[in-house]
Amino acid sequence: SMAEQPRLLEGLDPEQRAAVIAPRGPVCVLAGAGTGKTRTITHRIAHLVERGLVVPQQVLAVTFTARAAGEMRTRLRALGASGVQAQTFHAAAFRQLRYFWPRILEGRMWPLMDSKFRIVVQAANRLGLSTETESVRDLATEIEWSKASLIGPEQYPAAAARTGRSTPIPPEQVGKAFAAYEELKNRAQVLDFDDLLLHTAAILEEHSEVAEEFRARYRSFVVDEYQDVNPLQQRVLAAWLGERDDLTVVGDANQTIYSFAGAAPEWLIGFPRRFPEATVVRLERDYRSTPQVVSLANDVIEAARSRPAGARLRLRGQRADGPDPDFAEYDDEPAEAEAVARKVAALVQQGVALSEIAVLFRVNAQSEVYEKAFADADIPYQVRGGERFFARTEVRQAMAALRSAVPRADPAGEDGLPALVRAVLAEVGLTAEPPAGGAARERWESLSALVDLAEELAETLPEPDLDLARYVTELEMRAEAQHPPTVEGVTLASLHAAKGLEWDAVFLVGLVEGTLPIQHADGDNAAIEEERRLLYVGVTRAREHLHLSWALARASGGRRHRRRSRFLYSLVPDGHPAALPAKTKQRAGESRTKQSTKPRCRLCATPLSSTMDIKLGRCSNCPSDADEDLLSRLRSWRSERAKQLKVPAYVVFTD
Ligand code: ATP
Ligand code: MG
Repeated sequence: SMAEQPRLLEGLDPEQRAAVIAPRGPVCVLAGAGTGKTRTITHRIAHLVERGLVVPQQVLAVTFTARAAGEMRTRLRALGASGVQAQTFHAAAFRQLRYFWPRILEGRMWPLMDSKFRIVVQAANRLGLSTETESVRDLATEIEWSKASLIGPEQYPAAAARTGRSTPIPPEQVGKAFAAYEELKNRAQVLDFDDLLLHTAAILEEHSEVAEEFRARYRSFVVDEYQDVNPLQQRVLAAWLGERDDLTVVGDANQTIYSFAGAAPEWLIGFPRRFPEATVVRLERDYRSTPQVVSLANDVIEAARSRPAGARLRLRGQRADGPDPDFAEYDDEPAEAEAVARKVAALVQQGVALSEIAVLFRVNAQSEVYEKAFADADIPYQVRGGERFFARTEVRQAMAALRSAVPRADPAGEDGLPALVRAVLAEVGLTAEPPAGGAARERWESLSALVDLAEELAETLPEPDLDLARYVTELEMRAEAQHPPTVEGVTLASLHAAKGLEWDAVFLVGLVEGTLPIQHADGDNAAIEEERRLLYVGVTRAREHLHLSWALARASGGRRHRRRSRFLYSLVPDGHPAALPAKTKQRAGESRTKQSTKPRCRLCATPLSSTMDIKLGRCSNCPSDADEDLLSRLRSWRSERAKQLKVPAYVVFTD
């Protein structure tokens, strides 16, 4: 109704509004984090629906995580646009493929594999390659990258050489293992997640009657986080669109964090060229974060050496002042985790909700020490994007029980899916009331989360689509996407899994060399820049409280041999992309840490290898304008900073 109209356009600035009210056709929003891109597309869909310009069921909105898709559906419902398909690429393709498969191929769609590892191991075995976990993981990564990049097994060696990918396994062998993997998988009549996209695209491309039917059903497309689209997803998108151009994309090239997996921000940046008639909107106002957080985010990204034209945007904070982000250094990881748990408890005391607090890290293995610290401090938490939830014994047992219950389940039952799931899970120990505490309580929480997911699905899926088989598939997809169901508590998540989300308080932990940036990025400029973008994604998740920390040793009492992340050196408060000389540690009565005689960067102390770098006395990741003036400003900043950093007394900074 027209009465709804002002509500939809009210909470938008003029640029956002321009994107929302643009007529159907190509629209592109290029903007930084927190500027309201996701809000803009949600309002655009709701606006088009409300004006009767599009039927909700004809809109397909794709996002990159199941959680983001769920949030978009919730937001759309709140704006009066229920019925829009908001899904991940994989979930959308799954749904389509299941529908078209029996008409194109014989029988029912092949089932999705739990994990590709078993077949990768078989392929490695066949070629006499190592089946050690590391090696199998490398192979699986290369197969995923190839499929996402539309590169076949025969093309792999040349493509790997062209793009500078390197694994310890010779490229020819990787290509052969990839071919063997495909053959074994087809023989077993199972699909991997990329097959969902490949088959969907192929069916639409090769069967015009299917394409026509599909295109009559879906007329309007929206893609969030378009900077991370890969060639395979782009191919599916093109197949969906056909000759049409009703496509809205939004993204931030500075948040490209999946290029290691084939993401190509060129699709976002090149959008205005591909669609010259597109409505192109740039947003600069950051509505999410305090000016303090925004300023730090700008510093992080401005230190990037080269950025594509579309990425040169500076965020302008809109919110009231908040606390300064704080930096803290600890002896070891358990000490860092305990301190984070203490700060979390203090925030909760101040009235910040547990669900508004997140601890973000680079690799999932980092979550363990935080899980322990939170468990010790009795702080509820949930691990997101980790293998842990789906690796838990009770969850694996539950999934096995649910899978085996599918054939005997009474289709969509008297009491509905949640009751059915609850009944199956009772067999693996789910009780009506939670046990008092400890491991039994944790098990109960995991199993309950599975029931909650059934309830969530029951709310979002139409009746005929909702049965135990669909639920089990959803679980399998989440296990693959490492997206555990929601539990109330502090979020522990990898930076990759945190994309698009926001919290009142964010702890960015483990900011040491080898972790962020990750070890294997060292010496590879493109990889280092992707790591920097990950830090940018992390910083921009915080609305108000932002804590950055790192620890000099892994284990409690261990040797403190770690160095702070090189990225920290560019976060000088005055915004100048400067660098801070490495510090050495000195403890009362202890001799100074031995200095290596290897030439090191005079700014960040990375060992230097290239003759050019040695001559300049500086690594390629440090700013080139480090002149004397800068160094003296740096010195005074550093002594100021040393006071602010709550560092142990024995830590001294030296040049
Ligand atoms: P990211 O790049 O991290 O995905 P984004 O650009 O998608 O960020 P949103 O998540 O849409 O940003 O918005 C960030 C926050 O700012 C949200 O809490 C949103 O509700 C709020 N917001 C966006 N636009 C406005 C506005 N015009 N007025 C007030 N709040 C806004
Ligand atoms: Mg967003």
